[in-house]
Amino acid sequence: MTRFSILRLLLAALLFIAGAIIAGYSSVPAERAFIMAVTGMIAIFVAADQGGGRARARPARNTAPSPGRITHHPDFQGFIDASTDPVMVVEAARVTNANRAARRLFGENVVGENVRTAVRHAGAAERLADEDAKHEGRPLRLTGIGLRDQAWDMHIQRISSGQKLVRLTDRTSSQAAEKMRVDFVANASHELMTPLSSVKGFIETLSEPDAGESAPTRTRFLGIMAAETERMQALVRDLMSLSRIEAEKYQPVETTVDLSDIARSVAGELAAGSNPRGGDIVLHGTDEPRMVMGDTSQLRQLLYNILSNAMKYGRKDTPITLSIGLTRSGSMARLRVADEGEGIAPEHIPRLTERFYRVDSGRSRQLGGTGLGLSLVKHIVDRHRGHLEISSEPGRGTTINVMLQIARLADDPPSSPPLLSGDTSGML
Ligand code: ADP
Repeated sequence: MTRFSILRLLLAALLFIAGAIIAGYSSVPAERAFIMAVTGMIAIFVAADQGGGRARARPARNTAPSPGRITHHPDFQGFIDASTDPVMVVEAARVTNANRAARRLFGENVVGENVRTAVRHAGAAERLADEDAKHEGRPLRLTGIGLRDQAWDMHIQRISSGQKLVRLTDRTSSQAAEKMRVDFVANASHELMTPLSSVKGFIETLSEPDAGESAPTRTRFLGIMAAETERMQALVRDLMSLSRIEAEKYQPVETTVDLSDIARSVAGELAAGSNPRGGDIVLHGTDEPRMVMGDTSQLRQLLYNILSNAMKYGRKDTPITLSIGLTRSGSMARLRVADEGEGIAPEHIPRLTERFYRVDSGRSRQLGGTGLGLSLVKHIVDRHRGHLEISSEPGRGTTINVMLQIARLADDPPSSPPLLSGDTSGML
């Protein structure tokens, strides 16, 4: 028992005695009982209040850690420093502890600072400074702290009276994904709106009474309308494919298909189609079966998109080489399409698989492009746990390589030595 609590007991006893003496002076029994009851209760209250009153009398303004608090433990700083997430302790609107990550984010001198100075986010600082805030529910989303595009979730938790443990988790990537979703909707709407407005304009023009006079003009207008409608159709088709492939993205591909067979079939269809460039496709290594783990319709779409690009952006009358073989190590099947054409400048290559990214939008639209072809290719490759490589030399041409998982037959020895076949020159 501390000296302080003994003093409290003595004080309580004195109060009780004083009450008894005062009650003794009263001649009215009810008044005597009342005085005794009141002084007795006061005495009990004083005796029972072992330090709690002191804590209440001096609310969390005292930033000095009191014994028994977790922040006072000798290992506390090492413990929070082990976290790569920024962690701080806030007490009475002041930062009392911060780990390395928090000091990197808020500044080396953050400990001791008022939260309003330390956390340069008015809403978050207000919550941290508010002694009565409950800190329940969703964390606070903070932007504009650290790097310009960084986003953080701030989790606040009470750890002892007046102390708050503050932890920030980096949400930059989910924020970027959210932005991509928003941009995608805006881009898709814009891409549909442009041909739709054009078709609407021509319908209005043709509806005018004297518009039907010139047959060639009418034919020209109808031709433009047909092309714009086809563009919209292609776009909607690609959007639907994209959502279907995205929905299947976590479903493993468990079927075995012959890549050579798919290559021959798609190239044959393009050669027989209306685009004369289809006749420029040259096949290599497609006579030999090349069994891969694959989804036939998705691999057909992948090949169709890559070959269509080669036909669109390659130079007229130059060959488009489609070769099927193995990678240099022999561990994966490899599909390669090479064209001779305008090529792509290196700065564009990392962005080509983004939805609606085009090097030259006007030219892509004019050639019937939707800006989704390579994005679809990337999604298909990802679903197949494969690998996509794009290399290009401006003015010379572009080469697209797709590496896919080889399908092992049940009676294949598990570590059969790799076979090198097909055209492996210029492997990436
Ligand atoms: P698009 O429908 O516009 O062709 P893609 O997603 O298929 O969209 O391709 C994105 C962009 O990449 C194209 O707009 C084009 O600028 C460029 N590109 C793709 N393939 C080739 C190629 N073989 N040669 C040159 N540029 C290409």
